[in-house]
Amino acid sequence: MTESATPLPNPVRLLVLGGSSEASALAAALAGREDIAPILSLAGRTGNPKSAPIPSRVGGFGGVDGLTEYLSCNAIDAVVDATHPFAEQISANAAAACAAARVPLLVFTRPPWRREPGDDWIEVDSVEAAVDALGKERRTVLLTQGRLQLAAFTRAPQHRYIVRAIDRPAEIDALPGAKLILARGPFALADEERLMRDEGVELLVSKNSGGAATYPKIEAARRLGVTVVVVRRPTEPNAETATELPAALAWIEAHRPAP
Ligand code: NAP
Repeated sequence: MTESATPLPNPVRLLVLGGSSEASALAAALAGREDIAPILSLAGRTGNPKSAPIPSRVGGFGGVDGLTEYLSCNAIDAVVDATHPFAEQISANAAAACAAARVPLLVFTRPPWRREPGDDWIEVDSVEAAVDALGKERRTVLLTQGRLQLAAFTRAPQHRYIVRAIDRPAEIDALPGAKLILARGPFALADEERLMRDEGVELLVSKNSGGAATYPKIEAARRLGVTVVVVRRPTEPNAETATELPAALAWIEAHRPAP
């Protein structure tokens, strides 16, 4: 773990909760700035994370109490929750800890994808519901919803599964016969189309993550007539929100501590 703060008179001591492309973009924009002392926090789930351009820490805080204590002990002025839209627990913890420690919180996130003309979407509220949506007939299914909850698909062993993930998921053994593709996005549209065509994919399972980095799979599915089982987002946290980097930076600058 590395932690440090820029020793300037009044830098904004900022905690960035990361693990998303928004967090990476924010970290890149904050690198080298002397008026902001950021610390990027990562859960530590990915085996080989990209190196951060700003000071960082890795690992959980120990729930709401641990995070509240962290905010106080490190005299954090502001928190940006730039976690993935499906990282529900840490976002709920951030909201509760910021309220308890009276630290301002910004959620920096991307808007969800919207269904476009030509999209064949089945929208569901959970991965469990996504399993049911695959139907009874054997289909070739590309799973991109993340390494967790793969075991849910053992309930539907009739399908041929292709699993794409960054690291080998622990739950992959629960799906004997699944083809594992280890890869880190972003993926180009042509590559997504090739993958779906080569593998004869008939159904794609995806969370509604939003953002540009993983959108080509949605576009490829539209072009090829592949049905997408889209897991809807959890309820959005009730907090101030930015969806663009300049707005997030402006919010941070507005939270400079008084001299
Ligand atoms: P989660 O269920 O919301 O969080 C579970 C616990 O992991 C939290 O209570 C916290 O532990 C710890 N944690 C999560 N994010 C953290 C962070 N940025 N810094 C420090 N601790 C963190 O999270 P998740 O869905 O497993 O996601 C884990 C990470 O992967 C997140 O940072 C997220 O941005 C990223 N990610 C998630 C998804 C997804 O689909 N869920 C997709 C891509 C990336 P303590 O309670 O001990 O503090």
